[in-house]
Amino acid sequence: MGTIRHLFIVGIGPGSAELMTKQAQLAIEKSEVIVGYRTYIDLILPYIQGKEVVATGMTKEIERAEIAIDLAKKGKKVAVISSGDAGVYGMAGLIYEMIAAREEKISVQIEVIPGISAVNAAAALLGAPLMNDYCTISLSDLLTPWEQIEKRIRLAADADFVIALYNPKSKKRILPIQKTQEILLQYRSVDTPVGIVKNAYRDDQEVIVTTLGEMLHHEMNMVTTIIIGSSDTFKFDQKIVTPRGYQNKYSLTER
Ligand code: SAH
Repeated sequence: MGTIRHLFIVGIGPGSAELMTKQAQLAIEKSEVIVGYRTYIDLILPYIQGKEVVATGMTKEIERAEIAIDLAKKGKKVAVISSGDAGVYGMAGLIYEMIAAREEKISVQIEVIPGISAVNAAAALLGAPLMNDYCTISLSDLLTPWEQIEKRIRLAADADFVIALYNPKSKKRILPIQKTQEILLQYRSVDTPVGIVKNAYRDDQEVIVTTLGEMLHHEMNMVTTIIIGSSDTFKFDQKIVTPRGYQNKYSLTER
């Protein structure tokens, strides 16, 4: 039976060092080998001086997970880096899945270190759009069939969730976001507030407040998170806010 004694799966937050947790820094410090997607390794360069680094390209998640598992099995202290939170469309689940699928039984000591996910970062920059029930939907159909994504958009729209979209658009994948807007317009008004956040807490950060009707007039890429308001969400001072429901309980103006 194999044994893994030291494998950290670390969410490093959306980009800036200030938004990485102390625990994430400590996990990286304690590790001998850092495994990650090249762009994310670049974001944490100050913390990994003198350490062995295995950096691979995008879509190489399986390769990274395999390398990390094998190194950890050999007794190395390994930290796998994910952007945002490692358990939100990140590396944590993949590593568990791969270990669970191996024929050989491996006894593991994995520690997942939580991080600030893109949805939290985007929400803070936009004001307070997630104050009531919300869901996240990834528009990438690489791992989830489009029919299923479409069904989730429809049902989330019908249930009036605030909807955060991850992976909204890439150079080759432009139809899903158009289709998403089309579906949402069947349930919500053209004036529904929408926030588009690009490169949150990284260089070239951009925060746009727009509407469901106008959202496609703005550029978006693979480092963009979009938050679509519910029917209650309102614009205020170039921010978007979803009421929690206090107005039904207390008078907010008589204070
Ligand atoms: N584990 C990550 C998500 C990985 S999926 C997390 O918890 O945040 C990759 C998607 O995350 C991107 O397509 C984009 O939608 C979003 N994202 C990641 N970093 C971002 C950032 N700094 N600004 C805006 N969106 C970001």
